[in-house]
Amino acid sequence: MKGAVIIDGRALAAALRQRVAAAAARLKEGAGIVPGLATILVGDDPASLSYVRSKACAAVEAGLACFEQHLPADTAEPALVAEVRRLVADERVDAILVQLPLPPQIDADRVIAAIDPAKDVDGFHPLNVGRLWRGRPGLVPCTPQACLRLIRTVRADLAGAEAVVIGRSNIVGKPAAALLLAAGCTVTLVHSQSRDKAAICRRADILVAAAGRARLVTQEWIKPGAIVIDVGINPVIGMDGKRHIVGDVDYAAARAVAGAITPVPGGVGPMTIACVLGNTLLAACRRRGIAEPAL
Ligand code: NAP
Repeated sequence: MKGAVIIDGRALAAALRQRVAAAAARLKEGAGIVPGLATILVGDDPASLSYVRSKACAAVEAGLACFEQHLPADTAEPALVAEVRRLVADERVDAILVQLPLPPQIDADRVIAAIDPAKDVDGFHPLNVGRLWRGRPGLVPCTPQACLRLIRTVRADLAGAEAVVIGRSNIVGKPAAALLLAAGCTVTLVHSQSRDKAAICRRADILVAAAGRARLVTQEWIKPGAIVIDVGINPVIGMDGKRHIVGDVDYAAARAVAGAITPVPGGVGPMTIACVLGNTLLAACRRRGIAEPAL
């Protein structure tokens, strides 16, 4: 068998960012509206800092307004909720992103519940979660949305496909399963307590790995020809003694058997950022009753 198609997340994300930028320019010219993204980072976790900076820079590049808040790690929950409420009331802000994880003194669920569902760019508010599972329009979580966008570049019709999602978190695994189900897949969720994970994964036409375990998925877990989407971001020390990022999939081995595969880095990560911009634009249109552009 010949090697897998490499799904170039960077190039596909750049194309989506361009579509967002073009739509944002039309919105500004036609209606004088500049969609606004507000980000809140609590604490100084370097990975979170880098993610939030990337999203903010990408927003500005696409012609969106960006309002960045960086709060100290010892911020109390009521202070963070008050900040979220201030952004909910701010007319310039269409989308609010609270970077997770939050420090231990803060209950993330209570903070997410304070976000107006119409400004919930990550789609984590219970109302948007419910809409997703009920198949109603809402804001769809960005990483699972990125997975589906990448899958559709190599397979447009997913009806009847066997999909396996490794991981059942509220931010990746469960919403990815909801989207695959809505697309007509037969979906199985694998998690830390699942038995014979390799055998379940080997059934998958579409395998989404979101466990946060470096190179968990080996060649034996992959059905020949399967589409493999690697969500994992795992820091490891390489043979050169330097820190590298690897995915949840043993990429070198997997690409020999898969039909298509996303690299790490350069796969789901950049597309996730592009989806944040897309959701900001959709939120800006929907809040004002303006027809939304197809992205
Ligand atoms: P999480 O909240 O830690 O959830 C991990 C899930 O994987 C859990 O459901 C866990 O099962 C399951 N799991 C852990 N070890 C497993 C194993 N050996 N076999 C099967 N399942 C296992 O993580 P997350 O937030 O969903 O993120 C997952 C990964 O995606 C992380 O590497 C994260 O950095 C990355 N990520 C990437 C992006 C991006 O834009 N590329 C965005 C978000 C997250 P239990 O529920 O049973 O514990």
